[in-house]
Amino acid sequence: MRRISLFCVCAFVLASIAPFCRAQVDTKWKIHDPDRPAPPEIDPATASTQDSPGRPPSDAVVLFDGKDLSKWADKEGGPAKWKVENGYFEVVPKTGEIHTREPFGDCQLHVEFSEPSPAKGQDQDRGNSGVFLQGLYETQVLDSYQSKTYADGQAAAIYGQYPPLVNASRPPGQWQTYDIIFHGPRFDASGKLMRPARETVFHNGVLVQDNVELTGPTGHHVRPPYKPGPEKLPLALQDHNHPVRYRNIWIRELKSPE
Ligand code: MG
Repeated sequence: MRRISLFCVCAFVLASIAPFCRAQVDTKWKIHDPDRPAPPEIDPATASTQDSPGRPPSDAVVLFDGKDLSKWADKEGGPAKWKVENGYFEVVPKTGEIHTREPFGDCQLHVEFSEPSPAKGQDQDRGNSGVFLQGLYETQVLDSYQSKTYADGQAAAIYGQYPPLVNASRPPGQWQTYDIIFHGPRFDASGKLMRPARETVFHNGVLVQDNVELTGPTGHHVRPPYKPGPEKLPLALQDHNHPVRYRNIWIRELKSPE
């Protein structure tokens, strides 16, 4: 009897976690099966230095290559009004956010940014911008180098939800990187949430968000619930009135794990 109930508990636990176990061995193939298709060959990315951006991987969609903002639009869909010069672009305060013309779903995203130097302001009023996945989920961009703010709003925080595991910020004026893995939410036909969004972030090569589950869109003093929406939406960058710079932005779409 006791064994049966233990079995029932184990079965229940396994059944409960099954929907969250995403990577599974495909039993269609034998182990070391010579007929199993090889993954596509690509030319990998090269690393950036402070002086020059690296080269994106060959299978990435390049969102900014140092030349123009043709892949981006302003809030009304017109040309992005941020300034492009010397291989980077810079937020022009009060011109509003910019977003990609193309929508994206689950993805690997590489972004480089540089905080205004010399530093100006404090707390949230210091080099604030943001990477909004699907225009809804903000990975905070802020000058958090030797500068304090609330933990869930510092650089590399999922804004209002998760502080980064460590503060890996570089000083203002230096180029920094975010490498983000994002899996968006899924809804069924009735609009019920079937899977929350998940995000992993490396800040300057250091793991700072480890596959965290988002509570919904990010907000200031609010954690709004998920609203059903399309699987693909444009990526946005925030105008928070500070001249933050960006360069070398690329994205690779990921196939849905289902
Ligand atoms: Mg921000």
